[in-house]
Amino acid sequence: MEATPVFARFLPKTTLLQLNAWHLDDTATLLTLHVNSTQQLVPCPVCAVFSSRVHSRYTRTLADLPWGVAHVRWQLRVRKFVCANAQCPRRIFAERLPDVVPPWARRTRRLAAWLIAIGLALGGAAGVRLSRHLGCTLSRQSLLRLIRRLPLAGDRTPRVLAVDDVALRTRQTYGTVLIDLERRQPVALWPDREAETLAPWLRAHPGVEVITRDRARAYADGARQGAPEATQVADRFHLLQNLVEALEQVFHTHRTALAAVNDAIRRQGVPLVDGTVAVAVPPPPPTGEEKTAQRRARRVECHHQVWALREQGWPGHAIAAHLGIGKSTVFRYLRSTPLPERTRRADRGRSILNPYKPYLIERWNAGCRDALRLYGELQRRGYPGSYPPVARYVQRLRQAQGQAPRPRLSRPSLPVVAEPRHPLLTARQAAWLVVRRAEPRDEAATQSLAQLRAQHVEVAEAINLAQDFAQLVRQQHPQELEPWLARAAKSAVGAFQRFAKGLRDDDDAIKAGVTLPWSNGPVEGQITRVKLLTRQMCGRASLARLERRFVLAPDREPGQRQRPLERSEVQAPSVAA
Ligand SMILES: [Zn+2]
Repeated sequence: MEATPVFARFLPKTTLLQLNAWHLDDTATLLTLHVNSTQQLVPCPVCAVFSSRVHSRYTRTLADLPWGVAHVRWQLRVRKFVCANAQCPRRIFAERLPDVVPPWARRTRRLAAWLIAIGLALGGAAGVRLSRHLGCTLSRQSLLRLIRRLPLAGDRTPRVLAVDDVALRTRQTYGTVLIDLERRQPVALWPDREAETLAPWLRAHPGVEVITRDRARAYADGARQGAPEATQVADRFHLLQNLVEALEQVFHTHRTALAAVNDAIRRQGVPLVDGTVAVAVPPPPPTGEEKTAQRRARRVECHHQVWALREQGWPGHAIAAHLGIGKSTVFRYLRSTPLPERTRRADRGRSILNPYKPYLIERWNAGCRDALRLYGELQRRGYPGSYPPVARYVQRLRQAQGQAPRPRLSRPSLPVVAEPRHPLLTARQAAWLVVRRAEPRDEAATQSLAQLRAQHVEVAEAINLAQDFAQLVRQQHPQELEPWLARAAKSAVGAFQRFAKGLRDDDDAIKAGVTLPWSNGPVEGQITRVKLLTRQMCGRASLARLERRFVLAPDREPGQRQRPLERSEVQAPSVAA
């Protein structure tokens, strides 16, 4: 069929290509485009001298993006040229259209880009299913080959590099991730934690100036061998983690000290330094109504401020930033001069039980007080819900009549057991309690620490050493490191002598960690991504593919910047008290 100009405009590189004819098959599922190249002068791939002497022509069959419901196939007419350079070893060469299709490829570049995006987002099997749905049939192997052939962005050497380890298959294999800390982008992923892998990578990517790492020997050695001139930074989070490990050893050694503190906690009181136990009398918690009133007062105040700022001409987003509240709250407040009241949960009343309430009341008034039986009756009437709403409603009816709530069990009542208000401390939790920032520590935790100190001189010394170290790391006081190391080395606590010795071996990196702003914080999110990808790929993934999906698949929208994670702001995992 004759080509139409509109059709030709769908071709890539319309200056290089010409649509001669097209053909749609009878079922309208295969569109064949007859295309030929219009380049006049073509460079030889060996000597780059341009030639215009056509030797012969041949046809390449290529798949292109689908059009409507039809697959699109190109019959691309290309030529062979005679090299114009008499000295060139290549006499005849085929013309190339690098922007349109790679040499030898059987898909146009734009189709390949499409498939690669699908493959990176979904992986092999799911990628193939989606591609088929979108009209491109290809095998899982072909899709994976496309991804494997992608070059990694190895040309951009990061200036500040984070090295961290990651569990590839839960706890069995560990790998290493490299992250560009300035761009916050993944750079590489490999399946071991060896110096012998890190060093060659660094040699192949000269220009790394700062390397943040944990305190594993292998990364330190690898960095020294591969990039001797780079500054190594011991990551602050890992430093504190090592500190916690040393402290944990102390608490294991002095098991009795921790047991004494836990005894006091178990007796429901707050332990005191002299070993006696005072039962804490907390201020009476505000009643529900008081709390509601307090919250409302805060909202009224906030509403007032929003309007005051608006009257001074502040824009909404500035008001939100100034008052530290959400923009949507600001705009909601600005929609009405009186404070918009909240709908109370009870008034929302969308209980699944609503249509059945009249029946329940009727049965109740007829003398049926058994929630379970009523539930059965409701079910027979088509009630689709579960038992608890029915039980709650019956309880409310009971209260409305002024009856005492029914005891839950008819068994003889057991003595009342209360949860201890402060869960008992394990050695690890106690260690985090010491290392954690002082501000969020409550009264009980402070007391627990004081009592721990009171149990044994060595424990007290360890706690003091640990708190001083945590502080010098957090507040970045490198000049305090040397005196601290000397103190720890002379202390009576074996775990801290060893900890200090280990630090001294890694002295420069630790000083840098305490001085420089870099830390492995941003790595955390990337490690989570690796884990998600590994899980999604069911462990069957070859590492080459995992790495490409890790490094190349965008994990966020372009232009949207990830908020820096501050892992150095350590919060202990599930610390008691
Ligand atoms: Zn040539």
